[in-house]
Amino acid sequence: MQVYNTLTKKVEKFVPIDENEVKLYCCGPTVYDFVHIGNVRTFIFYDIMRRTLLEDGFKVKQVINLTDVDDKTIKNSKLRGMNLDEFTKKYIEYFFEDIDKVNIKRADVYPRATENIEQMKAIVLGLIERGYAYTAEDGIYYSISKFKDYGKLSGAKVGGGVSRIKNDEYDKENATDFALWKNWTDDDGDVYWDDNLPKGRPGWHIECSAMSLRYLGETLDIHSGGVDLIFPHHENEIAQSEAYNDKKFVNYWAHPEHLLVDGKKMAKSLHNFFTLRDLEKRGFDPMSFRLMMLDAHYRSKLDFTFEALKKYEKTLEDIEIALKRLEKLPKTGEMEVKVVGSAGSELEEFKTAMNKDFDTHSALLHFFKIINLINEKANKGEINLMEYEEMTAAIQKMNLFVGILKDYTVPEDISKLADERKSLRLNGKWNEADKKRNVIKEAGFKIIDLPNSDYVIIKDRKYGR
Ligand SMILES: [Zn+2]
Repeated sequence: MQVYNTLTKKVEKFVPIDENEVKLYCCGPTVYDFVHIGNVRTFIFYDIMRRTLLEDGFKVKQVINLTDVDDKTIKNSKLRGMNLDEFTKKYIEYFFEDIDKVNIKRADVYPRATENIEQMKAIVLGLIERGYAYTAEDGIYYSISKFKDYGKLSGAKVGGGVSRIKNDEYDKENATDFALWKNWTDDDGDVYWDDNLPKGRPGWHIECSAMSLRYLGETLDIHSGGVDLIFPHHENEIAQSEAYNDKKFVNYWAHPEHLLVDGKKMAKSLHNFFTLRDLEKRGFDPMSFRLMMLDAHYRSKLDFTFEALKKYEKTLEDIEIALKRLEKLPKTGEMEVKVVGSAGSELEEFKTAMNKDFDTHSALLHFFKIINLINEKANKGEINLMEYEEMTAAIQKMNLFVGILKDYTVPEDISKLADERKSLRLNGKWNEADKKRNVIKEAGFKIIDLPNSDYVIIKDRKYGR
């Protein structure tokens, strides 16, 4: 497998430290609001990395942290008049609901920052002891000029003089000392810890250094996060972890690009800020969004538009219809008769693409080639049994990598209604047949009519056809 490494700016062969357990750390959500679709693009990429490693035969331990204490969670819980824990728990629940909607498989551990405060304190104390951190009037800061490799990931330059920044998020050309521990202020209310360190709370960056060390150890195989995290977050994580552990922190850094909306960076002020729930409110299936994300390379900026999403919703339906037609086709020939179809070679090329830096776009082209073959067979009205087996196996294997097809069942009463509708139509009772179709639609399904009075039933999607 080959992966692009932000640290070296090269595509490199992936060699894990221990092939029995690939250590994969991904920066998770800050649980103060619903995740927006740009975050979801990143989370889908985390899922793709994990699935690809697993399908390649690696064992994987994936850790995705939940930031449940930082500037934003404290500020927003206060605005809502809620206690921090009560507030973040709600958004953690919503986060899991959202990732399920786009078929993201669960990571192995989702540690919460507030449950790892002791580990953070230990690192802060260790950094003071080693001379990398110092105490200021409002907290404990990391002295970036003490860490000779500062800037190795992002290229950020260590500025002159002693400037410091207390905010978790900042964007400056010249890097500054950053807060490891923030002394309590009125704004923090009842959010503080006070043994061993001044009464206060951790800075955001120390959270990931502590949780990755606790759950995965000193050196990680792959660390991932959106490109906006390269600086300062990931640069600061390196400074903290390498100064504390005296070991290389991460072998491969993987950073998925931004999702733009109508060509612009998403921002609430631009009214181009959407969550998966907003997409659903407009009648879209979140799985269409997953397909759209995977049709682009994760390292390219991708422009989200509703027009494009409609196209993917139709594509998703076309795939489902093709697969349902395949199931219904009469299978001919004997199992023993070896027919060499092309589905097997498409699968091999699909795998090759996935292993070239998770090139889902190129991989999906091979998936679509099989769908086209299925449609050709369906139009002919029959398929050889061997070819059928080969195609189904290839589609199933591909789906383990990309997860674009999510199983759902059509209830029996819906199938029965569809059958009744067919008989009514054959007897020319069009009005009654249409009534049945409406009942089926009400229940969230729709009938796609095929030649010779045949049909398939699929989930009703507003923008399907
Ligand atoms: Zn992080």
